[in-house]
Amino acid sequence: MGGRMSSSVAVLVWVLMLVTSVRGQTVERLSSAQIDRCCADVHEQVITWRRDIHEHPELSNREIRTAGVVAEHLRRLGLEVRTGVAHTGAVGVLRGGKPGPVIALRADMDALPVTEAVDLPFASRVKTLYNGREVGVMHACGHDVHTSVLMGVAQVLAQMREELPGTVKFIFQPAEEGAPAGEEGGARLMIREGALENPRPEVIFGLHVSPGHRVGTIAYRSGATMAASDGLRIVVRGRQTHGASPWSGTDPIVVASQIVLGLQTIISRQIDLPAAPAIITIGGIHGGVRSNIIPEEVELVGTIRTFLPEMRSDIHERVCRTAMLIAQGSGAAAEVKISSGYPVTFNDPNLTARMVPVLEAVTGKGRTISVPPMTGAEDFSYYQQRIPGLYFFIGVTPENADPKQAAMLHSPQFYVDEGALAVGVRSLTHLAVAYLKR
Ligand SMILES: [Zn+2]
Ligand SMILES: [Zn+2]
Repeated sequence: MGGRMSSSVAVLVWVLMLVTSVRGQTVERLSSAQIDRCCADVHEQVITWRRDIHEHPELSNREIRTAGVVAEHLRRLGLEVRTGVAHTGAVGVLRGGKPGPVIALRADMDALPVTEAVDLPFASRVKTLYNGREVGVMHACGHDVHTSVLMGVAQVLAQMREELPGTVKFIFQPAEEGAPAGEEGGARLMIREGALENPRPEVIFGLHVSPGHRVGTIAYRSGATMAASDGLRIVVRGRQTHGASPWSGTDPIVVASQIVLGLQTIISRQIDLPAAPAIITIGGIHGGVRSNIIPEEVELVGTIRTFLPEMRSDIHERVCRTAMLIAQGSGAAAEVKISSGYPVTFNDPNLTARMVPVLEAVTGKGRTISVPPMTGAEDFSYYQQRIPGLYFFIGVTPENADPKQAAMLHSPQFYVDEGALAVGVRSLTHLAVAYLKR
């Protein structure tokens, strides 16, 4: 009996020691070193997810398999999961064991109609019909990286749930590249369908891969970071006639040519370019069917990129006026339609200043760099219109390669050094914990 008593005392002591050591460990869990250890533990798994998603890319609003993989993972981690948000989006909520703020982390999941030309064992061989044509499908914008990185972050933070002071919302968003014609989608629809409600996050973080930087580098900018992107369509109406007697009609081809050049002088002669850059690109001219027929009309399509709201509306006005008056001067007419695209991706300066030291600690000094504004556009901007956000870039070009020679995003040669996955997981995890702990 005595023997039995002493052995149960021993068991009790052992249980107490175990509880204490587990407690000691959980207290330690939010230390920087412990976060890095957890991120390292999940690295191989993140690579596996990324290769699987890369091999099975899906176009905007068609991310059914991808969203399924994501939702299953989030459920397995014990998160509250909502699916079918903005068609195929998934939102997971991880409530920490301690009180604190709510934050959001966002990843986009869609691929592009690009035929992969990279020789990888997990290269995409997927084909689909796009605008009536058979095309390849490829994660040529790296959203496979964004998705698998955020799955990894969810796993790491779920492991730390008990000690986490606050709530983390994981937003897996479809259709960043734009919904198919006639459909809605992307960040704007996610917000309309409640992605930023119940609970409402007070800040949001997101990242994008960057072939312009080496792996291990993080690039960011405070304030206006990526451009507002607006679509432009101009129809020039003349009067059709014989190509040998232009005086008997009104030639919309010559008028359209003058408009193309006139629009460039808005940027070069009328805009305060030192205040912020701006771009007008005409990417398409459609008109005419035969060498000796002056057509009735010509269509111009293009894009306008700006960084300041006042400059955005000012350029829109100038585009309308320039096109209409040039046409009028020749007796033609121009109908101008500008369709608003994504607004400026604007990194909240206070939030950016607070979080940059966290990113610097992830990369080491000198490898988190402030970069000039980029004329690309990103629908993360819609979240930032509602709450302060920080959107940054992780380098994906191998250490021994020249980022200037690297294939751009949307290129069939676009390539990701998988070391970037670790930087992605560490940066978002550290940002989340640092913000919650503040
Ligand atoms: Zn893209
Ligand atoms: Zn992208």
